[in-house]
Amino acid sequence: MLRIVILGAAAGGGVPQWNCGCAICQAARSGGLQSTQASIAISADGEHWFLINASPDLRQQLIATPQLHPKPGQLRHSPVAGVILTNSEVDAVAGLLSMREGSPFSIYAHPRVLAILKANSIFNVLSETNVRRQPIAIDEAFEPALPDGSPSGIGILPFAVPGKGAWYLEGKAHPAGGDGAGDTLGLRIDDKTTGRYFYFLAACAKVTPELKGRLAGASLVFFDGTVWRDDELIAAGLGAKTGQAMGHISMSGEHGAIAALADLGIDRKVFLHINNSNPALLQDSAERKAAERAGWQIPPDGMEITL
Ligand SMILES: [Zn+2]
Repeated sequence: MLRIVILGAAAGGGVPQWNCGCAICQAARSGGLQSTQASIAISADGEHWFLINASPDLRQQLIATPQLHPKPGQLRHSPVAGVILTNSEVDAVAGLLSMREGSPFSIYAHPRVLAILKANSIFNVLSETNVRRQPIAIDEAFEPALPDGSPSGIGILPFAVPGKGAWYLEGKAHPAGGDGAGDTLGLRIDDKTTGRYFYFLAACAKVTPELKGRLAGASLVFFDGTVWRDDELIAAGLGAKTGQAMGHISMSGEHGAIAALADLGIDRKVFLHINNSNPALLQDSAERKAAERAGWQIPPDGMEITL
């Protein structure tokens, strides 16, 4: 059985975002739904956990999640055995800096993401003797290991997804050079005991026929829910970029995620990486109701799913 805890469901900045006075952030400050930046934790044995991405809110997420607390009676311990990174955005990697207190764990990431960690000396607070950095490759399944080296029982298949490189590298040379393949990964995550699996795509610019084929029939899909409509940041006066310009598909519209993933026989669909501009965050909004009618969930932080 795989256990999955949603540590956070928000896009970069979280909800509310520190410098945002939009209606959704205001509602979140006055008692409405708050959400930390997107990350999930997974475990096959209920004892050892792997994080998918390490958000800047990781410290708060670890405190709020009893499954990830140190074992009673142990002076130094963490159930977190590893972190799998799907991209190098700040909201996916900055939480690593909150794991610098000497506990051993492994980081699994594409060489393009590892190149960014290496090029930024601040990540050297994670000593390479304690924190092993393991390269992963597109279309090559791997099984993250437990701290004693034994298999975790979790199979992970990374695959390339249409997307963009990290925002802070826009117009700049990537430390790994090359063409961008590997900057944005989706993951298929398998329980090696039961054969059940789910998909994790926190960023995706477009649903291709190939991706539809992959996702068809899945028990569970976590999918990019950054914006409701492509131009919502511009329309709300919050920014100059469309969802597409940031490498994110919209929830709604003819080519949006809701339409693209309809009729694929997916049992459970959960949005993740939801920006604070997205009206589907508001409990009573027409957009939330439309998403729910289409079979999608906007999850609260801390929600656990078993598969
Ligand atoms: Zn806002």
